[in-house]
Amino acid sequence: MSTDASKKAFEEAQALIPGGVNSPVRAFKSVGGTPVFIKEGEGGHLIDIDGNSYVDYVQSWGPLIFGHRDEHIEAAVIDAVRHGLSFGAPTLAETELAKEVVSIFDSIDKVRFVSSGTEAVMSAIRLARGYTGRDDIVKFEGCYHGHSDSLLVQAGSGLATFGNPSSPGVPADFTKHTLLAKYNDIESVRKCFTDSSDIACIIIEPIAGNMGLVPADKLFLTQLRELCDEHGALLIFDEVMSGFRATLYGAESITGTTPDIITLGKVIGGGMPVGAFGGKDEVMAQLSPDGPVYQAGTLSGNPVAMAAGLAAVRRLKSNARLYPILEARATRLVEGMKEAAAKHGVTLQTDVRGSMFGFFFNSDKVKDFDDAAASDLELFAKFHTGMLAKGYYFACSQFETGFISTATTDEMIEKTITAADELFGEIA
Ligand SMILES: *Cc1c(COP(=O)(O)O)cnc(C)c1O
Repeated sequence: MSTDASKKAFEEAQALIPGGVNSPVRAFKSVGGTPVFIKEGEGGHLIDIDGNSYVDYVQSWGPLIFGHRDEHIEAAVIDAVRHGLSFGAPTLAETELAKEVVSIFDSIDKVRFVSSGTEAVMSAIRLARGYTGRDDIVKFEGCYHGHSDSLLVQAGSGLATFGNPSSPGVPADFTKHTLLAKYNDIESVRKCFTDSSDIACIIIEPIAGNMGLVPADKLFLTQLRELCDEHGALLIFDEVMSGFRATLYGAESITGTTPDIITLGKVIGGGMPVGAFGGKDEVMAQLSPDGPVYQAGTLSGNPVAMAAGLAAVRRLKSNARLYPILEARATRLVEGMKEAAAKHGVTLQTDVRGSMFGFFFNSDKVKDFDDAAASDLELFAKFHTGMLAKGYYFACSQFETGFISTATTDEMIEKTITAADELFGEIA
């Protein structure tokens, strides 16, 4: 398989765009090699500018639960485009999508649409701070909540609870209100409440997808809810990735824990830029123009993006049996890969939630970021490079989640397992 056109395109892009990409993970830094430039998608496949076809397990990092160029979403978008790209005034589609979101999520009475997951989370945190009149927030190591300043934190030295900026350009003053805790470790969260009496909210990916797939324990989430209630803090479920991916009704429906605010993104835009955050009336009433907490967006609720999101969400809602079907396929994929790896002496830790799947090159179970970080990254890089060369497009980092779509067939999955078996024979 030749990727000469991609190599040339990447060189050209690097001269004009930092790293040649508009979002860093696309640059293949952690696995090596050259990213392929995509010409088009087709159902469960990507086609690059050299004409190579790949089975796509990235699906635009989550949004495309119906695969590429789904005819219903495409038709809805084309229809919306014909009426105008943007008005900066209310449209019926916004209310329609809001209706769907409110009917689907028990803990959402009202929802506001924005243009990205980053924006949704940033706004939700401002809302939680405004509502509680407190400044500190608790986040977990290994959870990603977009690239806003106060969320770009890493563990400080020693036993410090308060995070340090994980990027230059973020003043330490901006992250001093962000307390870091350990995923699935309630004692580390209790410590945060001991260290601070000013905690506005805990934010968590209830089904973490940004350190690889690491779902939170049910009991842990229950305990977070109890701690929040005890201390008057809000619980935010960041479901930008897991929303509409793991299940239709949100993590609350499978974990039994009810959050105060939910953030959404990815699938809710059907492939267009949409984010959303919602919660109970009482909390959402704080938001401008009803309340004093400011939040705005020129392209928020964009009619074309709403049309794509509405088409996707309505189809999911009218076809809730889709999730067990997708989950069975994703399970077959990771179980098949696990067996193939085992044949060659490689141990994989796997997990599945609906259409999300994860596999760590790790001999121990992964419960938090430290466990995930202990995976064999070198072997993962070989796996990634080898599978790409065989026509299988996996996320280019061990710390990402994989996705299947309704267009990912059983046949594609069986072929993937066979290819992985072959590859493990070469690299293990
Ligand atoms: C992707 C993601 C975000 C950020 O969304 P963007 O649309 O990339 O800004 C936030 N939180 C989670 C859990 C995500 O997976």
